[in-house]
Amino acid sequence: MDIKGHKISILGAVRSGVSAAKLALAKGAIPFVSDNSSTKEVLDNVKKISNLDIESETGGHTSKVFDCDYIITSPGVPTNAPVIVDAINKGIKVYSEIEFASWFCRGKIIGITGTNGKTTTTTLCAHILNQNGVKCHLAGNIGVAFSEIVQSIAEDEYVALEISSFQLDFIDTFRPKYSIILNITPDHLDRYENRFDLYIKSKMKIVSNQNNGDAFIFNGDDENILFGYADANIELLPFSLDKLLTNGSFYDEERIVYSKNKELIDICKAKELSIKGEHNIQNSLSVINVAMKIGVSPEGIKNSLTNFKGVEHRLEFVRQFKGVNVVNDSKATNVDSVWYALRSFDTPIYLILGGKDKGNDYSKIKDEVKKRVKKIYAIGSSAKKVYEYFQIITKVEIVESFDEAIKKGIAEAEQDNVLLLSPACASFDMFKNYEDRGSQFKKIVNEL
Ligand code: ADP
Repeated sequence: MDIKGHKISILGAVRSGVSAAKLALAKGAIPFVSDNSSTKEVLDNVKKISNLDIESETGGHTSKVFDCDYIITSPGVPTNAPVIVDAINKGIKVYSEIEFASWFCRGKIIGITGTNGKTTTTTLCAHILNQNGVKCHLAGNIGVAFSEIVQSIAEDEYVALEISSFQLDFIDTFRPKYSIILNITPDHLDRYENRFDLYIKSKMKIVSNQNNGDAFIFNGDDENILFGYADANIELLPFSLDKLLTNGSFYDEERIVYSKNKELIDICKAKELSIKGEHNIQNSLSVINVAMKIGVSPEGIKNSLTNFKGVEHRLEFVRQFKGVNVVNDSKATNVDSVWYALRSFDTPIYLILGGKDKGNDYSKIKDEVKKRVKKIYAIGSSAKKVYEYFQIITKVEIVESFDEAIKKGIAEAEQDNVLLLSPACASFDMFKNYEDRGSQFKKIVNEL
């Protein structure tokens, strides 16, 4: 793709925007970066790119943004932001950053999306491939922007890309060789006019350019995943926790099996997986489909599944203290991931729940809480809502701080019980982000 001389406006001066601007410049285009905020991070970034002679503006978008051949937008900019709506009304094409980066990708893309499990699955995918002699880069929402590394990917190499629906909203030709949809449950609806159907549609876009030779890997147990979007030439490779599949991978209550035209290939026992819980069986199944397609041996896959260390802040075991197992699941920012977290343990749970509520409907976890949770420590700005909802189901106490929740949890739990931070809420009421929340939690626990 030749973009020499193209005038490109880039929305957002954080990770993706800055990387896209540098890539555009390297390809001979004329980038202009525009960010409506002027946080320290944005100002620092803009200063850095000005050293490269990239023009920019901060604290708002001027009409200069529209003086371009097309716009590249960062995932943090809402799909319905006025600047995007105006651009579309003016007939200006808007592309997401992964779309733009994909124009320059020589290697093969494994695109991974879903409401929950993206980071874990993307990391696991790269881990399995790299440990088995298949070079796989890691990019997307997960840390390094696709634009940042795309030029270093060789033709015979792969890139595992973590993709949010915001990135999918503005794709055009983006075509993964393997696409994965892990699950679709209501989340981020504020960005989709509160319409779940629009959120589903956005996720399904991941298959929209796939064709002959490509495969669509999806959760066969999730009825929100629709097929109407996939081209008839795409290979469909489902995974399932409860169906025996002709093609694809499944779990038969004990073993994890890959089925190829009904030929069953044993991968491992579920209890051999290093990451626990049904959701992690699903994540593993999805990656098994990719790895088997690429030709990794079943033994190689098994070894990598059993030595995978997991990802920080996702059901991360912190330590055992006074007989209580303390687990950090700070990344559980919605109710669905808490449901999976609760089902990952077969001993009683003392649960730390609450934070900045995004309109949570707790009915989904009501039964699991009743069955498994001995007590809830409600924290943060939603503590009262948590208290009111759960007090008839289990014991609930509103606490002021992690310190208090942890001390009480350790004192009240019995031998081998679990003290679990899985808050179902965003963290911005008390912490910088979920990483900060998880790190502070671990620090207190490790200093006990
Ligand atoms: P994402 O990148 O999509 O946010 P993560 O891998 O960071 O996903 O996990 C986010 C939260 O969801 C964690 O609490 C994790 O334990 C939980 N989780 C991971 N995989 C799944 C899954 N397949 N289904 C539901 N919840 C999951």
